[in-house]
Amino acid sequence: MSSPNAVSGRFAPSPSGDLHIGNLRTAVLAWLFARSTGRGFAMRMEDLDRAKPGADLRQLDDLRALGLSWDEPVIYQSDRRDVYRAVIDEMVDAGTTFECFCTRREILEAPSAPHAPQGAYPGTCRDLTEAQRAERRAERPAAIRLRARASSFTVHDVLHGDVSGDVDDFVLVRNDGTPAYNLVVVVDDAASGIDQVVRGDDLLTSAPRQAYLATLLGHRPPEYAHVPMVLNRDGARLAKRDGAVTMADLAGQGVDAGGVLSMIATSLGMADAGEPVTMTDLLERFDPARLPTKPWVFEPRPADG
Ligand code: GLU
Repeated sequence: MSSPNAVSGRFAPSPSGDLHIGNLRTAVLAWLFARSTGRGFAMRMEDLDRAKPGADLRQLDDLRALGLSWDEPVIYQSDRRDVYRAVIDEMVDAGTTFECFCTRREILEAPSAPHAPQGAYPGTCRDLTEAQRAERRAERPAAIRLRARASSFTVHDVLHGDVSGDVDDFVLVRNDGTPAYNLVVVVDDAASGIDQVVRGDDLLTSAPRQAYLATLLGHRPPEYAHVPMVLNRDGARLAKRDGAVTMADLAGQGVDAGGVLSMIATSLGMADAGEPVTMTDLLERFDPARLPTKPWVFEPRPADG
């Protein structure tokens, strides 16, 4: 997993379906942030769950059609289970984890620890004895949680400044054995030399946990840029059911890849409405300080069919 550039930005979609215009806009921004600072650009498929066959290739085709390029090869998390397993084994051996048998309901109903951040794991399984663990293992498989030694951590975000957020004993491996997003994102970003993470601002509150974990694993946390989301007219996060939101939907309505890029550029204040642009044009015009800080409200026409 080495990249020709020592440091990189990246885009890391979940191949659960076609990218919609909000995801595409985030990808365009991630590419612009990386290339405008001389970084490499890595593409990673977060396909440990919810992957739909063929969705990865359609996502890559759509990104190529917009004019994005990345350093090969595309990384698939499903190829890296051994790497995650090795990291987990090391953490278990070092005593920085514990087995957790709680159901969602038990967590919600448990009294929270004094001074713990709201919604934080209440600590139920943190100090079980070996005998108690053996008993619980007979009932259900364990998840593995981080034994956090901090309750807050501060990250630097190019758009949001210094952001402090909660850290708790978050899940590293789910009880079905799947390594959790918060673990794999940290392991993979470090392995690929990613020092700049650009993604939707719905993940801003996850960044302190991830950066804390990076530090524990001996990595320097990346710089972040959490970019505004694309919303529907009701102010909710844009979704496929909102109408024509994917490249395929828009193509069906006569908007080609160039048209989609132009719409994205216009929404970012980087082109006039309907002006044809390329990624190279956008690279010349890109200025992070002038990016809109508010979400883009996208009002799609109904999807055909
Ligand atoms: N796979 C995540 C998503 O599609 C993005 C994760 C990240 O960029 O850290 O929302």
